Amino acid sequence: MINPDSNQKDRFRQARENMVRVQIIDRGVKDEAILKAMMKVPRHLFVPEEYINEAYYDSPLPIGYNQTISQPYIVAYMTEVAKPDPSKTALEIGTGSGYQAAILAETVKKVYSIEIIPDLARESAERLKNLGYSNIVVKYGDGYQGWKEYSPFDIVIVTAAAEQIPGPLIDQLAENGRLVIPIGEPSAIQELILLVKKNGKIEKSRLTFVRFVPFKRL
Ligand code: SAH
Repeated sequence: MINPDSNQKDRFRQARENMVRVQIIDRGVKDEAILKAMMKVPRHLFVPEEYINEAYYDSPLPIGYNQTISQPYIVAYMTEVAKPDPSKTALEIGTGSGYQAAILAETVKKVYSIEIIPDLARESAERLKNLGYSNIVVKYGDGYQGWKEYSPFDIVIVTAAAEQIPGPLIDQLAENGRLVIPIGEPSAIQELILLVKKNGKIEKSRLTFVRFVPFKRL
């Protein structure tokens, strides 16, 4: 029997396999847990219906409200830099579609994610719940302040470009914690920065150039 739904499923699985091989593995991402997560999470369910056939393209895509879901490689790369493992707790600023949160949730114990656009916060919380992610908590708010109640975090990933690193996010980073954030002016090319907290001190490294939507304030 031919089931049209399973054909669809195969089509997306194949697109996802290609994505992982060509965009992620060939560009050097090695962490097995992350590759497995990229292979598992149905990215086509995180984009608007009209972009479903482009979900596995090598690019960001619009998700409404002038925001975007990041390019698959950037999601994998930022996750790898953050060094996830099942003992860790992560904070994400900029939930957007929820895709990065889902990839993190596959590789760490618990994910807290903050989104400043109320409709996006609501939609992504709903999507992640429907997909069965019980280890992600999404809230609406200004991520500048972090989420003190659940701090410290082993991982902080910011998915919008700030002009400076928000102080509260550094304060809420655990010892040996890793914070990944794009820094730069909204209209210019930005730099992806990694901060690592060692013996209470911050070590900073510059990773690569990126382009993200602006970090907003309430
Ligand atoms: N990680 C997302 C990418 C979303 S784009 C994904 O995987 O789809 C960046 C998101 O950051 C946007 O949804 C934007 O509304 C949000 N954002 C911008 N400034 C913010 C802030 N101060 N606090 C929380 N979210 C913010």
